[in-house]
Amino acid sequence: MKMMTFPRRKISFETFLCGIPARDYIYQDTAYEQQIRDAADMIRNAEYVLIGAGAGMSTAAGARYGGKFFEENFGEFQKKYGKGPYMQDMYSAGFYPFPDEESYWGYWSKQALLGGIDLDVTPLHRLLLQALSDKKSFVLSTNADAQFVKAGLPEEKIFCTQGDYFHIQCRRGCHNKTYDATELFRQMDQARRDCRIPSSMVPKCPVCGGPMDMNLRKDNFFVQDDAWYEAEERFSAYLSEAMDKKLVLLELGVGFNTPTIIRFPFEKLVREHDNIRLIRLNLEQAVVPESFGDRAVGINADMAESIKDIAEEVKR
Ligand SMILES: [Zn+2]
Repeated sequence: MKMMTFPRRKISFETFLCGIPARDYIYQDTAYEQQIRDAADMIRNAEYVLIGAGAGMSTAAGARYGGKFFEENFGEFQKKYGKGPYMQDMYSAGFYPFPDEESYWGYWSKQALLGGIDLDVTPLHRLLLQALSDKKSFVLSTNADAQFVKAGLPEEKIFCTQGDYFHIQCRRGCHNKTYDATELFRQMDQARRDCRIPSSMVPKCPVCGGPMDMNLRKDNFFVQDDAWYEAEERFSAYLSEAMDKKLVLLELGVGFNTPTIIRFPFEKLVREHDNIRLIRLNLEQAVVPESFGDRAVGINADMAESIKDIAEEVKR
């Protein structure tokens, strides 16, 4: 039998770059004050504002993860397990190979409380929501700390794609349900001794009897329950309604940890739709595609300041 052969097509560098100019990701050199005015104009002229919130938003609002905060709150964990590469902050410590379930939940109950359940850094979130009060807005967030809900935004307007600090699930994801563990975490917090919780408190999967885990997307066993799919549906409905209208994408503190969820899709939307604008606020990584021209503003600065300044300018 004769093999089918296809003529070899020449791949130009441009094809390799998917048609995007080679020098496209730039820090804009517009003065800060002008950028604030441009961003405020975009928002004033918009009917829809889709907020994309990453870890930088919580940090800008005042959430703490490492340094002195970690030493003060997780000192006993540092003493027991050594500082090493893990016991540095609330992100790295989650990856520590805890020796047993009692130790695992001894740690995670504390992180869930301090990083989400008891966290209250909502003034900046409130200020932002106030500035957008006459817009049709929606929040797409990778944060697990529920600060937008605490700031008063109805849950129907939020899609948290990566889970939250309030729910647990089967560690192997054997069934698509999550369980509110807020009370359980409080009890664990009271009962914790030497970084461990009593064996009687270790949660077990009600279906397979195996261990449970946080409902956070940290491996391929992340459970997307009914609430997750309902939020996804509301998000798609919002986006299909807003797509051909005056839509501004307001990206807040999204870096390169999971750029595939907010940053890259936002860029794709702007690239493919002339009516969509992008405001990217980031402390260090506010690079934007140069080819977007004046359809994008990338403000590389302290985000708490930028948000306050934009909110003030919008009211003017
Ligand atoms: Zn299970």
